[in-house]
Amino acid sequence: MKLKFIHKEKIARDSWELMFEKPDGFVYEPGQYLEINLKHPKVDSRGIKRWFTMSSSPTEGDLMLTTRFVEKHSSFKQALIDLEPADEIEAIGPQGNFLLPHDVQKPAVWIAGGIGITPFRSQLKFLLDNQQLDRDITLIYSNRTEQDICFGDLWSIAAKQMPKFNLIMTLVDDIPKGWAGETGLVDEAMILRASKIVTGKQFYISGPEPMVEAFAPKLVAMGVVKADIKQDWFPNYTDEFFKV
Ligand SMILES: Cc1cc2nc3c(=O)[nH]c(=O)nc-3n(C[C@H](O)[C@H](O)[C@H](O)COP(=O)(O)OP(=O)(O)OC[C@H]3O[C@@H](n4cnc5c(N)ncnc54)[C@H](O)[C@@H]3O)c2cc1C
Repeated sequence: MKLKFIHKEKIARDSWELMFEKPDGFVYEPGQYLEINLKHPKVDSRGIKRWFTMSSSPTEGDLMLTTRFVEKHSSFKQALIDLEPADEIEAIGPQGNFLLPHDVQKPAVWIAGGIGITPFRSQLKFLLDNQQLDRDITLIYSNRTEQDICFGDLWSIAAKQMPKFNLIMTLVDDIPKGWAGETGLVDEAMILRASKIVTGKQFYISGPEPMVEAFAPKLVAMGVVKADIKQDWFPNYTDEFFKV
């Protein structure tokens, strides 16, 4: 299908929201992703294909992708950031089963590294818009610095409206004076502090590929059954703000 670009906005140090028109009849679930094929000049070795989680909720009118744009970026990212209103890109999807627990009573623990926050933005917005305010959600959100945090307004709204929404943010560098969250890398102790009991909960890990791959066995060692672990790994990102 074709997606028509609307506009972009910088929302954190290196992070951008890209808005597209939602094609008529396009249906997706919060947490799903699209395969994007973007033809562009001077294609580098990484090629023209990427995958992006829809950071928008199906309850919203437009489709939103959120991505990082760093100084030394790929030719694909240059082409993405250069999109002009009304430009069209090719997308395939929706794909993926990184979905909310079917059992609404089952507590969820979301662990996000950096831009890995995108599926959780979609899911939380979906719960808020559908008045599913009683869901038991713990979000552990790790960033390098405070300037890298995305969607701060949404976390604040959820904290006010959802009595069982438990937000733990951790920063690794440049800790601001008076910072009330955690500091340092996400590790087993931080997960235990956040979630107290790990059994009977659905765990979700989303972020750079090395982080996601390292965390699953740690959770199993902590007593989480494999069936209760869902993973969404983002290739090509290698940020060092998590413990592997
Ligand atoms: C299911 C799924 C969902 C995803 N969802 C998202 C999402 O919501 N948001 C998102 O941002 N990503 C998401 N990704 C990852 C996305 O598809 C890209 O892999 C990622 O954005 C990196 O893009 P890039 O390769 O263009 O590198 P860039 O973002 O340009 O750069 C990443 C790193 O690679 C280095 N680099 C860039 N180009 C080169 C090169 N040619 N050679 C060597 N090093 C280079 C950069 O310096 C930087 O350190 C998802 C992936 C999957 C599989």
